[in-house]
Amino acid sequence: MEAQRMTAGSVRAIGTRPKDLAARARAAAEVAGADAAAVDAAARFPSGAFAQIRKQKLLGIQVPQSLDGEGASLDDLADVCYILGGACASTGLIYAMHQIKIACIVRHAKGNAALERILRRVATEQLLLASSTTEGQAGGNVRSSEAAIEREAGHVSLERKATVISYAVEADGIVTTARRAADAAGSDQVLLVLLKADYTLERLQSWDTLGMRGTHSEGFTLRARAPADQVLPEPYEKIHPQTMVPYAHLLWGSVWAGIAAAAAGKAQAFIRHAVRQSNGQVPPGAAHFTQAMSTLRMLRGVLGAALRSYEAVMSDEKAIAALEFQSMITLTKVQASELAVATVLHSLRACGLSGFRNDTEFSIGRHLRDVLSAPLMINNDRILSNLATTSLMTPLPTSISG
Ligand SMILES: Cc1cc2nc3c(=O)[nH]c(=O)nc-3n(C[C@H](O)[C@H](O)[C@H](O)COP(=O)(O)OP(=O)(O)OC[C@H]3O[C@@H](n4cnc5c(N)ncnc54)[C@H](O)[C@@H]3O)c2cc1C
Repeated sequence: MEAQRMTAGSVRAIGTRPKDLAARARAAAEVAGADAAAVDAAARFPSGAFAQIRKQKLLGIQVPQSLDGEGASLDDLADVCYILGGACASTGLIYAMHQIKIACIVRHAKGNAALERILRRVATEQLLLASSTTEGQAGGNVRSSEAAIEREAGHVSLERKATVISYAVEADGIVTTARRAADAAGSDQVLLVLLKADYTLERLQSWDTLGMRGTHSEGFTLRARAPADQVLPEPYEKIHPQTMVPYAHLLWGSVWAGIAAAAAGKAQAFIRHAVRQSNGQVPPGAAHFTQAMSTLRMLRGVLGAALRSYEAVMSDEKAIAALEFQSMITLTKVQASELAVATVLHSLRACGLSGFRNDTEFSIGRHLRDVLSAPLMINNDRILSNLATTSLMTPLPTSISG
């Protein structure tokens, strides 16, 4: 099914929207959708989809026009993630992860010439960047690093046990967190941009998972040596709340919404088919389709509202740092992931056995397996328990509109 366009406000000046973006995303989604079953079965990188994504020049759309990009806004990116996620969840998630890293560089390079050169190359050469935050035994605690960079003669070096790096082998570069120095605290982190020539990867772990198999998220020892000016000038402590978390939660959420919409599309097709087969009789599972549409609407509402809130404060450091905004954007991930799972489950119930089977046009299996990664990707339990104290201190609303 063709994913519906997600409505979201834009604060960008009229006339600067990337040209034909929806059509370009749909062209890539067509290839991604055609390959999705094979990519899932073999747990392989969706190379056909990414050849088309590169042909459509979608990897560099967020790079500012002054650096040869198209200056795409967050809601442009969300729409592309939604369209790709509906066709092939792994393709959508890889695209989202790349754009989250690009956002960190665009918003925090602060005129650094080496980083701007890399951004220009992303736009002109369509480089694909991967992300390394998960390390050793620390699980999803992104705000703590074990391995530290070492500085010598204009260079930095790093060796880290990167438990999961999606599409590391296929990427043209990796953006990684690291401890600022050997004597720094775990939370005193930097973000370092590495290009392929700057690092080697030694495989630690393979990737044979229930879903999101095409992200090809193997584990590696990452050994790097790079020019020191490829370290972002701003500390990760700032990049994380201002850019990394909002972009990650909104773009991952858009991919999950795409998966949910694709599953709901199958349920709708199944119910229509069943009605036609039984002289207009609506099957009992139809109520689940209605619920799928209802949770999908809620999901799009949550994402659209969070997107508008972020766009309203994104250039205001103080407003972004406010507890109210940080709690909202953090909880957006929990809500979006749970609503996406609920939508896919309702779609499965609507399709019944035809959805449960792997060999029908109404099969929901891959969508369900893929969307089940959503609550785990930075575990919702971790997020909820981290927010427990904040929630206790938050005053309850005194009106509906306030
Ligand atoms: C499809 C996919 C692709 C990924 N790609 C990448 C990538 O490219 N790069 C990368 O760096 N990482 C990647 N990751 C990893 C991801 O970012 C998280 O690090 C990972 O999902 C955390 O997994 P975890 O459940 O082992 O860890 P944790 O989040 O540590 O959770 C482990 C368990 O501990 C519990 N737990 C942990 N902390 C708390 C707490 N404070 N309170 C209560 N319970 C807690 C959780 O409930 C959970 O049961 C990917 C993950 C997925 C699913």
